[in-house]
Amino acid sequence: MSNNKQAKNYRAELVCLFGDPVDDNPTGVMMEAGFRACGLNYRYMTCKVKRENLGDAIKAARALNLRGIGFTMPHKIDAVKYMDSLSQAAGIIGAINICVFQDGKLIGDNTDGKGFVLALKDRGLSPEGKKIFIIGAGGAAKAIAVECALAGAREMVIANRTAAKGEELADVICSRTPCKATAVRLENRHIIPKDTDMLINATSIGLAPDSDKRPDIDYASIRSEMVVCDVVFCPAETQFLKAAAEHGAITVNGLGMLVSQGLFGFELWTGVKAPQKKMAEALTQELE
Ligand code: NDP
Repeated sequence: MSNNKQAKNYRAELVCLFGDPVDDNPTGVMMEAGFRACGLNYRYMTCKVKRENLGDAIKAARALNLRGIGFTMPHKIDAVKYMDSLSQAAGIIGAINICVFQDGKLIGDNTDGKGFVLALKDRGLSPEGKKIFIIGAGGAAKAIAVECALAGAREMVIANRTAAKGEELADVICSRTPCKATAVRLENRHIIPKDTDMLINATSIGLAPDSDKRPDIDYASIRSEMVVCDVVFCPAETQFLKAAAEHGAITVNGLGMLVSQGLFGFELWTGVKAPQKKMAEALTQELE
């Protein structure tokens, strides 16, 4: 071999997704499409990691010199204790969905809420100054509530079936962000207050195979001035969004949030601007 020929690198940079169950998670399709589009020698591997094996899996990730890790159910909260540092939002949320290795240190972040805010921005919308009504108080609701509050939301109402969880989230928002938040129990045919600017379904109601379901709210209380969003991305056009559109509201589906949060991970792991269009196309095609 000639001396002046640059040495080839046969080693790919590795990123893994840890979860259980994880077999039906399509994130890898979007990430691999992004790596290919940018000509990056990266691989994204979807790994089944049981709850009790998370510590060992993170140790293995360090030994294998992984670039980063994505976390999904049931690891988002447990993974926090293995991090050397956390982003501001992840610290408030108390859960992470990605981390990157930097100089041997593990830095955790939560991109679910960031993805939501970016998906709004892509539609020319913003939570700034808005009164937001959130249905749900689980992981997705918490990430969205925190990022919307940090992005300048004026006020929030959290409506959850289990009232105590909603109250806990409202307390976090009031004590850790400048936004005002209250909690209410989600009632049957729940009436959405007239002065709501943005209504978000942050529950799993409507997720396939239960795609005929929708949150039990009074749909007649949706007004055409409201922006109505769903976190459910499969199907993208949920019964909830269809009903909101019938009442004249602007609707934002969960697919944009899913793609947008993936863009943050891509850029954190590669340091390269994510090819949004290519990644969105790959994911949309896969989910179709
Ligand atoms: P969690 O299990 O943490 O929370 C589920 C939430 O839904 C809780 O508030 C729960 O209420 C509520 N809920 C579930 N079923 C019902 C019901 N029948 N009636 C009333 N409330 C109900 O889940 P996550 O927050 O992690 O995920 C929620 C959804 O968000 C999933 O569909 C997930 O796929 C989606 N998601 C989408 C993302 C995206 O990028 N688009 C990213 C992350 C999540 P309770 O507390 O009373 O049980």
